[in-house]
Amino acid sequence: MKFGTKVIHAGIEPDPSSGAIMTPIFQTSTYVQDEPGVHKGYEYGRTQNPTRTTLENNLAALENAQFGISFASGLAAMDAILKCFQPGDEILCTNDIYGGSYRQLVQVFGQYGLKGRFVDMSDSQSFGALISPETKMIWIETPTNPMLNIVDIEAISALARGKDIVVCVDNTFSSPFLQNPLDLGAHLVTHSVTKYINGHSDVIHGCVMTNDQEFADRLKFLQNASGAVPGPMDCFLVLRGIKTLHLRMERSCRSAEKIAEFLITRKEVSKVYYPGFKDHPNHEVAARQMSMFGAMVSFDFVNNDYKTAKEVLRSTTLFSLAESLGGVESLIGHPASMTHASIPKEERLKVGLTDSLIRLSVGVEDVDDLIEDLSSALDRLT
Ligand SMILES: *Cc1c(COP(=O)(O)O)cnc(C)c1O
Repeated sequence: MKFGTKVIHAGIEPDPSSGAIMTPIFQTSTYVQDEPGVHKGYEYGRTQNPTRTTLENNLAALENAQFGISFASGLAAMDAILKCFQPGDEILCTNDIYGGSYRQLVQVFGQYGLKGRFVDMSDSQSFGALISPETKMIWIETPTNPMLNIVDIEAISALARGKDIVVCVDNTFSSPFLQNPLDLGAHLVTHSVTKYINGHSDVIHGCVMTNDQEFADRLKFLQNASGAVPGPMDCFLVLRGIKTLHLRMERSCRSAEKIAEFLITRKEVSKVYYPGFKDHPNHEVAARQMSMFGAMVSFDFVNNDYKTAKEVLRSTTLFSLAESLGGVESLIGHPASMTHASIPKEERLKVGLTDSLIRLSVGVEDVDDLIEDLSSALDRLT
């Protein structure tokens, strides 16, 4: 089944009790048993819920996985993954990782002895030397946030093979439409479903997909034992959002390309970060592992001045100033003070995340209007 069909049909059957074509919202905390232990596969709402089961099967299919496990948020999904490791284990991470993921690994799991090490993964040739005997997981984000660096999933997965090292890809920025890490050798793929997969900025949700039975069992155990489960209403909304994932992604990616091409022509702009550019350091890797180049664009100013960035952030009207990404509406953000504020400034500057960097999440509006919005914001600069 091709992707555009999976989003509509994979794992989804009409409701057997009524024939409803849309999966009902099973808003219930418990299920009646015929006699003790005799039930229809559902006992208690934290443990199982039919709306959630349908969503999990659909999510698994999108990443060509056997198993999908969903959580109350992207960070709850990460929390479950990290709980599969032991004190002393080292998690080797992409250095410009999502701020909340950095915070969780360092400030929460650091207390329990997990060691996060943050490294540049853009050169897969030299990456092998960074693996240590303590390394138990490699945590990849690609494209990275907000610098849009590209990490070669296949090359890094090959380096981990045979070494008892788990490779996990946070695939939020690509969505399963653009990139399928399990097919490239990763063991786990996780998403903040909040972003592209749901796509309508009305739900917080996360998931993990895998083909590894042992991991799937452990994650299902943790889903129930730690209890960070999504509600049935949210599962329903995500199921609805997924149905247009391919259409939204295609439109947003096309528009992002046009916007990147527009920004590079502006004299105020010093640099545009976009994996679709031929001179992007890992453009070839992106072209190999992604079907399109994504819908995120970051850019910086010639004068490197926060005041200039602030003026632009304040004056766009279609691009709303907000955290998050991946919705139908376009957003503009300031990573240094918003999404990445929890990362120390020295760390930020090392990866080029200056105080004047702006990040765009391109939605599905008409691209001419989006360009006009940016153009007039730049024209207004004093
Ligand atoms: C938003 C985000 C997360 C966290 O997801 P939540 O749903 O907000 O908990 C993790 N990784 C990336 C790349 C994100 O953009």
